[in-house]
Amino acid sequence: MIIIMETGAEQGKVAHIIKHLEEKGLQPVPLVGTERTVIAVIGEERDLNVSRLEALPGVRRVLRVAQPYKLVSRETQPESTVIEVNGVKIGGDHLAMFAGPCSVESEEQMEAVAEPLAKLGVKLLRGGAFKPRTGPYAFQGLGKEGLEIMARVAKRHGMATCTEVLDPRDVDLICQHADILQIGARNMQNFTLLKEVGHTKKPVFLKRGMSATVEELLLAAEYILSEGNPNVILCERGIRTFEQYVRNTLPLATVPRVKELSHLPIIVDPSHGVGKKRLIPAMCKAAIAAGADGLMIEVHPNPSEALSDGGQSLVPEQFAELLEDIKPIAIAVGRKIS
Ligand code: PEP
Ligand code: MN
Repeated sequence: MIIIMETGAEQGKVAHIIKHLEEKGLQPVPLVGTERTVIAVIGEERDLNVSRLEALPGVRRVLRVAQPYKLVSRETQPESTVIEVNGVKIGGDHLAMFAGPCSVESEEQMEAVAEPLAKLGVKLLRGGAFKPRTGPYAFQGLGKEGLEIMARVAKRHGMATCTEVLDPRDVDLICQHADILQIGARNMQNFTLLKEVGHTKKPVFLKRGMSATVEELLLAAEYILSEGNPNVILCERGIRTFEQYVRNTLPLATVPRVKELSHLPIIVDPSHGVGKKRLIPAMCKAAIAAGADGLMIEVHPNPSEALSDGGQSLVPEQFAELLEDIKPIAIAVGRKIS
């Protein structure tokens, strides 16, 4: 940490801060310039409160040097985390494919999607039973019935399931039926929910909030790890910008940047990232080339009848073509599709 003093701050104020830091077990190194003094602080700066330091007399600005997160950081764990769910690896040299409809609508619909996906080798079935809809009159999901349908269908096809948890009160119920707990964009900073899923051992699929920074995403993951659950899968799903021609802006630079900062796997969701099915293949290829650990793609047997996100859903045949399309890119970057 660097503490920049006001121009001409008296020696007494500098001495007061040095004493304050020493009392906290840190090693302050004052650098006295012609106009102002700067104090470099050696030690565990996460224990210091920046805004309290800034309130001390004579302090102009406090700059952090270390990242505010610890457990998710690659500095803490240099090797990449690989999460295993029902024998499927997420991370490492694997490219994990999560696919399924936005919402679980019926057993027939789930069967019509899971059967072709399983035949194509997809092992992670994703679908929403509790849906975070912008308006209260839109389809809210089948709830418990949706969880039961998805679990039955996935079992028939030897797949693992991933579904969204909206409410901390539903965590136990969802843990009984699903393999991976999704936290959606709208809940990325629902700290009560993050702590609650942190108490489970289920992998958590954590989507970036639509106006959250990468640092905020990593701090949200830190909440889960700090409660004892190390199995977090990050997801870039696009952010809200001034752009109107795509549903969201999908910043793929997040992938290599997150890989530098964190050991956690990162998946890209081009379905919500662009919101238009014809743009999805190009963004899938770009995501793999950028180093993504997997993709999450919405697939529906009959998109024009879908109860949510039909416009961005592929039919299983289109998904099959997409898989063929992305294979050369996956091979080129040394990834095995799983
Ligand atoms: C979803 O995954 O269907 C969803 C609602 O996504 P997001 O939280 O990214 O909007
Ligand atoms: Mn959706």
